[in-house]
Amino acid sequence: MTSVPLRPPNAFIRQLPKAELHLHLEGAVEPATLLELRQRHGDRATLAEVEALYRYTDFQSFLMAFKAVSEHLRGPDDYELITYRLMQRLKEETVLHAEVYVAVGVCLYRKQDFAAIFEGLERGRACGARDFGVSLLWIFDATRHFGVEEAQKVFELAVRYQDRHVIGVGIGGDEMKAPPELFRSVFGYAADNGLRLTAHAGETGPPESIWGALNLRAERIGHGFTASQDADLIEELAQRQIPVELCITSNLRTGVCKAVAEHPAKNYFDQGVMITLNTDDPALFGTTLSREYQLAQETFGFTDEHLRELARNSFEASFLPAEKKLELLSLFDAAAAR
Ligand SMILES: [Zn+2]
Repeated sequence: MTSVPLRPPNAFIRQLPKAELHLHLEGAVEPATLLELRQRHGDRATLAEVEALYRYTDFQSFLMAFKAVSEHLRGPDDYELITYRLMQRLKEETVLHAEVYVAVGVCLYRKQDFAAIFEGLERGRACGARDFGVSLLWIFDATRHFGVEEAQKVFELAVRYQDRHVIGVGIGGDEMKAPPELFRSVFGYAADNGLRLTAHAGETGPPESIWGALNLRAERIGHGFTASQDADLIEELAQRQIPVELCITSNLRTGVCKAVAEHPAKNYFDQGVMITLNTDDPALFGTTLSREYQLAQETFGFTDEHLRELARNSFEASFLPAEKKLELLSLFDAAAAR
């Protein structure tokens, strides 16, 4: 891994109220939790065997690692537990609100009973909200390289569960195999039904992939790493204040960014792009949201004031209903004023 040794996140960062907008449920399952699930399933795996699943060398093998972890998630109880554990971690990180991707495309591909799984997800969310006071909304994620018809099925499920904390849809997976243009009609369908739209774009794909996502009316861009290659695109993102969900450690670990100093996070910020910091797949990338803030500060010299602005952005860029957003922003402002 290309990374600088980091000090543990300082108290300011840990206590800064944050929201997280780019976070995959399956990529947040810690090895110890996965081991517990496997033992529940009667599997005699060891922690070392479980940890081996979390190793990869590049973006393609990372996708395989994500799949390997997901394959051990079975029934609703598993999804309930991983949601609850995630919310426990979010509380420890002073994350007040998270918008969490569920790889519904993978569940359908594996022919899981999604209706039952969704009940597990919602039980975990409700218990987590009660015990940790964390707000969580779901984003149903289609795996783009499974194709448009599969994405449509995912988005139909999002519409079905829309009144149960499903706020939007996204596309993830292999950008190079399935460009955004393919998804125009299904994104239109989701938007027409009142769902919010986000898309992974410019992670492994070129700036055109980000333009494509904007043409799909994506309201936020997941990663946007390659936007730095296109000055017009940066200007467009800045002018329209399209939030970009940056995931610095993720980009380093998958090898799309060769060295942390080359990451465009600070350039985007200086050019007026509305950036947010995110973990993407914290367990697979060995990171936490506080660690991402610490990394940004240590690498790029973001001041505490800058970090406060990024944290505020994370609430502003959320898909929360206006009233709840205002409530969290006033909590944020009160905490920041102390
Ligand atoms: Zn992602």
